[in-house]
Amino acid sequence: MGLRIERIPTFGDNYTYLLICESSGDAAVVDAPEAAPVIARVESCGARVTKILSTHHHPDHSAANPELAKRYSAPVFGHTSDAGRLPGLTDPLEEGDTISVGENEARIFFIPAHTTGHIAYVFDEAKAVFCGDTLFAGGCGRLFEGTPEMMYTALCEKLGKLPHDMRVYCGHEYTESNLRFAAHVEPENAAVREKLARVEAIRAGKAADWHDATPSEMTIPSTIGDEHETNPFLRASNAEELGRIRTLKDNF
Ligand code: ZN
Ligand code: FE
Repeated sequence: MGLRIERIPTFGDNYTYLLICESSGDAAVVDAPEAAPVIARVESCGARVTKILSTHHHPDHSAANPELAKRYSAPVFGHTSDAGRLPGLTDPLEEGDTISVGENEARIFFIPAHTTGHIAYVFDEAKAVFCGDTLFAGGCGRLFEGTPEMMYTALCEKLGKLPHDMRVYCGHEYTESNLRFAAHVEPENAAVREKLARVEAIRAGKAADWHDATPSEMTIPSTIGDEHETNPFLRASNAEELGRIRTLKDNF
């Protein structure tokens, strides 16, 4: 039993994840913008890909879906409302649906805000949530298609209510710049200062090309507990405050 999670650096600063059920060997790919690094990792792990999962329609999370789906004869999952714009979508999902990767089950959270068809995959037993560009370590996604109210619901009323030891696997390595902004918004927050120092040390020896990044320079996963202590958006007490912080961040 168990879910092995491989972090694959893709595109500019994206994370693609390869989830492997340790008992059945079944695997799923989460958010793939390009196929080559994913195929290389699948081969080096000897994984058997049976599902392609997308959190939302943006190309840096889904452009490789058709190529991977064809190569592995695998269905592509995403939100119902993204039919027509999520590359390769075959199996539309709604809030409350479940999917499985071998023996590991995930619940689907519908969390529109960054885009109107954004979902998260919540693996309760494996204690891992794949939340794309909604919740980042130390930050949240831009409001391209939604409102501060929608982001408040997604962060504070849904993702934020998950257990504190649940690991957060987001769509980008944005942690360092997010925490610099967090330190600007909450200069008195010691948890932010400590995490920023830790993250700066992790990112100090970073590879020139993100594709060459190794686990030692990755700041993901975070945890829901960590985010409650350090993420100014998750710490906002209402949608209005979240919206104000979002506007500040857009101009930071
Ligand atoms: Zn996005
Ligand atoms: Fe993205």
